[in-house]
Amino acid sequence: MTAKQWIVGFLIVSMIFLLLFLQKAALKVLTPWLAPIIWDGTYDLRILNNQLKGKRIGLFVFAVKKYIRFLLPFLESAEQHFMVGYNVTYYAFTDNTAAVPKISLGAGRILNLLEVEADKRWQDISMKRMQILVNLTHDRLPKEVDYLVCADVDMVFNDHVGVEILGDLVATIHPGLFLAQRDEFTYDRNPESAAYIPYGEGDFYYMAAFYGGTVEEINKLSTFCHKGIVADKKKNIEAVWQEESHFNKYLFYNKPTKVLSPEYIWDTNLPNGDLVKKRRFLAVHKNHEEVRN
Ligand code: UDP
Ligand code: MN
Repeated sequence: MTAKQWIVGFLIVSMIFLLLFLQKAALKVLTPWLAPIIWDGTYDLRILNNQLKGKRIGLFVFAVKKYIRFLLPFLESAEQHFMVGYNVTYYAFTDNTAAVPKISLGAGRILNLLEVEADKRWQDISMKRMQILVNLTHDRLPKEVDYLVCADVDMVFNDHVGVEILGDLVATIHPGLFLAQRDEFTYDRNPESAAYIPYGEGDFYYMAAFYGGTVEEINKLSTFCHKGIVADKKKNIEAVWQEESHFNKYLFYNKPTKVLSPEYIWDTNLPNGDLVKKRRFLAVHKNHEEVRN
């Protein structure tokens, strides 16, 4: 082989490695079933605002026991960044409405502070959200909103979150697993659980701290999750990540029509932050031991 052939060969092999590397690090913008994955720059907000103007949006959140402390920053940040210019109704469930500080809201925005009984275990409080959602999306919401967004309360909005997130059924990729391979996803692997997903299956690992959809779709999703939780309880088992495991099972069989990138749930403690330029909805760091007991 001549020196020239060596150089050409070397260049070709380097290119192949570079392409393989880029493919692994590439951020997907489309699911295999052709649903968009929402990253900054993939949409034109002016067009979406024209399409969705006048839509009424609900924001559902639980703030029970010590988590009441997160509610004011959550709501204040939502006033700054969440669906600005739209009619927004907050459905905030708490065990102590009197302990919730007053907040002033923008025009067209309403806060419903609703009572919920506090369960003893934090896992039960977290899962109780599905049961409450089943009823809320059946009885009240069909008359009040077009889309419902559901969120953890230990979060703050940190940048624009608007109608680009609306769709029939929308879920967010877990920010800790967006580069992970299928078998690294933390699905429930116990065949006895209603949330079971076998190895080799699955699309994404979604985080149940931010999702949404039409009232009808959230009714179907919460009904599935609640039924699975009850069935597991009867067998004296609990899915590894509680309602999030059932949520992932539902979304495996009922593909979301839109997927949100980790811009929509970020935690500054996570690696690969250089790939996520916008941090629209950020986890508030908490002492798990302290706040859950
Ligand atoms: N939650 C609550 N009180 C509790 C435990 C949980 O209100 O004592 C609600 C709250 O909305 C919280 C959500 O359940 O954001 C999920 O729990 P957590 O945020 O602790 O789960 P993590 O995000 O740490 O997995
Ligand atoms: Mn949380």
